[in-house]
Amino acid sequence: MDPHAAPPLPPDEQSEFRQDVISGRWVIFAPERARRPLGQSKPQPRQNAVRDVCPFCPGPGHDVPPPTAVYPAAGPWQVLVIPNKFPAVRPIMPDTRGLTLRVSMYQLPGFGAHEVVIEGPDHLTDPTELADDVYRHVLLSYRDRIRTFADDKRMDYVSVFKNVGAEAGASMAHTHSQVIATPFIPNNIRDELAGADAHFKRKQRCVFCDQIKAATDGGACRVIDSPRFVVLCPFAPRFAYEMWVLPKAHASRFETLTDAEATELVGVLKRALRALDATAGVPAYNYYLHTAPLRTDPSPSFHWHIEIVPRTARPAGFEWSTGVFINTVMPERAAKELRAAAQS
Ligand SMILES: [Zn+2]
Ligand SMILES: [Zn+2]
Ligand SMILES: [Zn+2]
Repeated sequence: MDPHAAPPLPPDEQSEFRQDVISGRWVIFAPERARRPLGQSKPQPRQNAVRDVCPFCPGPGHDVPPPTAVYPAAGPWQVLVIPNKFPAVRPIMPDTRGLTLRVSMYQLPGFGAHEVVIEGPDHLTDPTELADDVYRHVLLSYRDRIRTFADDKRMDYVSVFKNVGAEAGASMAHTHSQVIATPFIPNNIRDELAGADAHFKRKQRCVFCDQIKAATDGGACRVIDSPRFVVLCPFAPRFAYEMWVLPKAHASRFETLTDAEATELVGVLKRALRALDATAGVPAYNYYLHTAPLRTDPSPSFHWHIEIVPRTARPAGFEWSTGVFINTVMPERAAKELRAAAQS
């Protein structure tokens, strides 16, 4: 026997490579790394950005551009959609000489839209504290903004995302989401569309529906099973305690969300996020919507979903270099812990 060989690991600490079926992304599961001093899978509790005056709160300090949408339609506002004061992209053509948007094969002007969804008049920093009706209007605002941008033929995709905690990129503590419309389909979406399409061509089934079925059949990845939605831990998540939220009925575009689905989704998201806080030590996180590109026909292969990605690890040289993430918690174990927390 080799005297330098490490002692054998117990089965639940052995590492494993997994490939995400949809994106093709590889992940290394290394539960043993959770034991190293800086490798805890439970991060520091999230911190929020601090400001003297919050411009999102009503009152004398309220300082936001005129809203592009207000919810509800009458009465005091619950949700405001405003243009971002510091947009990544702008709704004007920076150069009006060009008749077409494309400058060259690899260049486009920084054209698009960047909006902020202010979630409620109260200065809450945790979306699970939002009143159900406010949260429902937040989800309906996502749906409405996607529908609105679909009317602009120059836009190809609408990204909807949320940063919670300064470490996850939230520069404002007051809970909010962001919407960015772009004249191209971002690579992550393109990769998922291609992977889902390839799976469909092979198996004649939606790869997401397959995962939903595995979860609802009592699979180890199940976190929440509600009448219209499933929350699960994906097969090859990049981060410990990562979750996906999917509608059970196959739908490729979030725009088709019904009011009844929106009402149920509020409860499902709140339960999932509370379970995350209880299980992973109140981490900073992002969640974002992945939906089919604007104006596409209903797709049998793609299935809209929300990915909840907690900052349970700090990507470093290996991850940036290769796109391969190291995760210290197997998703089956994460799901078991999250499921217990979601039921309590
Ligand atoms: Zn505020
Ligand atoms: Zn499906
Ligand atoms: Zn996705």
